[in-house]
Amino acid sequence: MFEFLKLYAKLSVKPSKDIGLTSYVFPSETIGLYLHVPFCRHFCDFCPYHKLKYDAVLAREYVDLVRREYLLHGRKQFNSLYIGGGTPSGDLEVLKNLLSFLHENVSGEIALEVHPLDASVEKLREMKALGVNYISLGVQSFNDAVLKHFGRDHTAKDNFLALANVLDAGFDFIDVDLVFDPLSFSGKAAQSDLEKVMKLSPQQISVYPMMRFSYTKFRDTRNSSRRELMIFDKLDEIAEKNGYKRDTLWTYLRKDLNRRYTSVAREFYLGLGLSASTYTGELFATNTFSLARYRESITENKPPIGSLFQLSTFQGALYYSFWALYTGQLDFSKLNRYFPKANKKLRFLLESLRVMGYLTRKDELYLLTPRGRKKLHCIEEWLTYAYIDPLWRKLRSESTQI
Ligand code: SF4
Repeated sequence: MFEFLKLYAKLSVKPSKDIGLTSYVFPSETIGLYLHVPFCRHFCDFCPYHKLKYDAVLAREYVDLVRREYLLHGRKQFNSLYIGGGTPSGDLEVLKNLLSFLHENVSGEIALEVHPLDASVEKLREMKALGVNYISLGVQSFNDAVLKHFGRDHTAKDNFLALANVLDAGFDFIDVDLVFDPLSFSGKAAQSDLEKVMKLSPQQISVYPMMRFSYTKFRDTRNSSRRELMIFDKLDEIAEKNGYKRDTLWTYLRKDLNRRYTSVAREFYLGLGLSASTYTGELFATNTFSLARYRESITENKPPIGSLFQLSTFQGALYYSFWALYTGQLDFSKLNRYFPKANKKLRFLLESLRVMGYLTRKDELYLLTPRGRKKLHCIEEWLTYAYIDPLWRKLRSESTQI
C-alpha cells in the first residue's frame, strides 16, 4: 500500500509552470498565517532552513517587502500567526514593525520561535508586550557535546537560563524544541534531555530526529528510522511517567492540556517571506529563496513564488490527510467537505489502512494507532528526502545565482 502511494507520488506530483497566479483562493474562511524571517547571526551545521546573515539594513528593507506581499493577498482572516526562521527573535525592532500590520486580522495565537541567546528577561518582556503569547524555545539539547555536534552557538548553561526566563515570563504557551541524532549519540542523550525539560513542566516539548539534508555537513549519511523509533519508545515511557502524552508525531503535550504549538499541522495556510510555503488545498506554493527575485516580484505586484505544485483533488486531499494524521486524527467529514470529489478513493484508502492496523475508526474520526504512528514517522522521513530536500536544494541554488 505505502509502496503504491510512494510510486503514485513520484509519478504524479510535478511542479507546474507559471500559471499567472495573482492571489490565492482558500476553501475555508479562516486560515493560518506563517511568516519566515530569514536572518541569523550564526549558521548552525545541521540547519536546512533558508537563512541570510543578519544585517540590520537588509532586515528593515525586508519588513517593507513583507508588508507589500501581505497587502497583495487582500484582507483575510487568520486563526493563528506563526513566525519562524531564521531567528525572528534576534531584532525586536524588526519584529515590532512586522507585527504592527500582521497582528490586526489574527484571531488566535501569535507564536514566535525564540533563540536561547535572545531569551533574556528584558527581551522576553518586550516580546510579550508586542502581543506574542506562544513561544517555541529552540534549545535543541542540554548536552554541550550534542550542541557542538549541531554547530550551535550556545551552551547547555545558556539553555537552562533561557528556559527559566521563558517559564517565568508568563506566556500562554511554551514549547521547547529538542533534536537528537542517534547515529552520533546513544539514545540516553535524548532521554536525558527529555527528562530534564519535563521536570520543569512546559506545556509542550517537541523532539525531532535530526534530518541530514544534502547541503549540510551531514549530507553523507542517512537517518536510521529503526533506531529513532526505538528511542521514541523510551521517550514515550518517560513522558508517561512525567504526566505528558504523545500529541503529534514529534511532540509531547502535558496531559492536562488540549492546545498545541504547531506551524506545520494547520488545515490551510498562507506563507509570507522568503522560502515560506502556502497550501490552499489545490496548490502548494513555495516562495522564492532569492532576495533579489523576492524584491522584483513584489515590485511587480506578483506573488513571489519560486515553486508551484497544482494538486489534483486526490493529491490535495492526501496532503491534507497526512498533516491531519500527523496530529493523530483525521476527521473524514471535514475531508469530505473540502475534497468531495475524492470521497470514494479516500474512504477506500483509509478503510484499507484501518484493516491493516494503522488506523482505528470512531464514527467519522480516523485515529492513528501506535503502529500507524511508526509508519507515519518513516513516511515523513521519506517525504523529506524525496521532496523537501531536492526542492529546497534547487531553490537555494537559484538564490545564489543572483
Ligand atoms: S538552526 Fe536556527 S539559528 Fe541555527 S542557522 Fe538554522 S535558523 Fe539559524
